[in-house]
Amino acid sequence: MKIGIVGGGFMGLTLAHEIAKNDATVKVFESDSQMGGLSTHEDYGSFIWDKFYHVILPTDNHLIGLIEDLGLADELCWRRSYTGYYVQKKFYSISSSKEFLLFPALNLWDKAMLAFTIFYGSKIDDWKKLENITVKDWLIKMGGKRTYEKFWSPLLLAKLGDNHEKASAVFIWTYIKRLFQARSSAAQKEHMGYVKGGYKTVFDALEKSLSNKGSNIALNSTVESIKPSADGGVTIRNNGVEEHFDKVIVTTPLNVLEKIAAESLFEASKSSTPIEYLGVICLILVTKYSMSPYYVLNIADKEIPFTGVIGMSSLVDLDQTADKHLTYFPKYISSTDPYWQKSEDELKAIFLEGVSKLYPDFDQSSIVSSHIHKAFKVQPLQVLNYSENIPKIKTKHKDFYVLNTSQFVNDTLNNNSVVNHVKNFAQGFTKELEAHKTKKIDQLV
Ligand SMILES: Cc1cc2nc3c(=O)[nH]c(=O)nc-3n(C[C@H](O)[C@H](O)[C@H](O)COP(=O)(O)OP(=O)(O)OC[C@H]3O[C@@H](n4cnc5c(N)ncnc54)[C@H](O)[C@@H]3O)c2cc1C
Repeated sequence: MKIGIVGGGFMGLTLAHEIAKNDATVKVFESDSQMGGLSTHEDYGSFIWDKFYHVILPTDNHLIGLIEDLGLADELCWRRSYTGYYVQKKFYSISSSKEFLLFPALNLWDKAMLAFTIFYGSKIDDWKKLENITVKDWLIKMGGKRTYEKFWSPLLLAKLGDNHEKASAVFIWTYIKRLFQARSSAAQKEHMGYVKGGYKTVFDALEKSLSNKGSNIALNSTVESIKPSADGGVTIRNNGVEEHFDKVIVTTPLNVLEKIAAESLFEASKSSTPIEYLGVICLILVTKYSMSPYYVLNIADKEIPFTGVIGMSSLVDLDQTADKHLTYFPKYISSTDPYWQKSEDELKAIFLEGVSKLYPDFDQSSIVSSHIHKAFKVQPLQVLNYSENIPKIKTKHKDFYVLNTSQFVNDTLNNNSVVNHVKNFAQGFTKELEAHKTKKIDQLV
């Protein structure tokens, strides 16, 4: 059985790994010259680490299961992590229950309301009813205006940029469920994890496991078209060459699917209002000294051009980054934002000015290198009634399948969810492969 997968991001490669366990030969087509998509790596000169920042939470059971399955359990490191807030030009750590109680921007009543919101949110199962109220209205209703302005608004700004007020309350529900569970219940302290060598280690292990099973990943291979084959199965065309597969699975976003797949293979319902996508522009600094003691610093200050600071080196041991400090300064913006028109030099100048405002003592001579990374369409903004509004994709051919993250309706974009969706899909798919095999044997007999 020969299976084609379009997209060599984390989803495509995890999917290939699951399917290749079942005597199927898989070929993954990836446009880029390296594996990984949004989870791919970058060469920072003296070390390699993720292009965008990634962290593993203790509750990411599906992802941790995959890492163990790939034989990387010993490479997984857990470290104490710290969360900070920048409010009224001051930095505060809110990384333990005690620090939370001491957070001066909120009074005791606000803190009680905040604790109630988190507790109540974590107990909600019926997320659908949160789809028709904005995240702002829900949070104010639950915890009051001051709690919203001083605590939630910076956090939403860091995650969704200026568009955060359009998002529905489902966003914060998924966030509460995922992130606040990262605090170990005994100590009420955050712990987060990473794999030594970053996501490149995971992708290298996926590639090795695939090649051991006779499957392979074709890099620099942009799929140009996908169409049904006359004698069953599906044909993929790439670099002008057509190749036949028994089954094909596409993991790219809908806009790519619509461009490459024949109309006879699938249909997508039209959404009543256009889906708005968020992208990210990120300054990355490699420095001689530490820039931030926090893994995440949420910023409530309109003068700062980025929406958060990710102090990767506050989490990752320095031997992973050649004794240099790695810090990401992301700005989440919509795909129509004028920021996309700015050149790299302009962006660097704007972001560096923001760095100097945030850290007035920062000495630019400590910068070893600086980088701008951009991802244009990272995730759809989960607005009111999003699950009703997203285009529903239906395949019309028995050998053609679509699995992509734009279909996640009650989850944030993260690799734990990707593994979960892949495992569920692979279970059904494997049954189909088994049925196909049995039919072939019956025909031979
Ligand atoms: C700033 C940022 C921070 C993040 N932080 C975290 C985190 O801390 N923890 C976490 O779990 N997750 C995090 N994520 C999310 C994580 O990166 C995604 O869940 C994951 O990378 C999605 O993988 P994917 O394969 O679905 O999509 P993609 O990575 O987008 O992969 C799609 C692939 O398809 C390829 N492709 C497109 N068109 C074609 C074509 N015609 N032919 C062949 N190939 C094609 C693309 O090149 C790409 O490689 C973060 C993401 C970002 C952007």
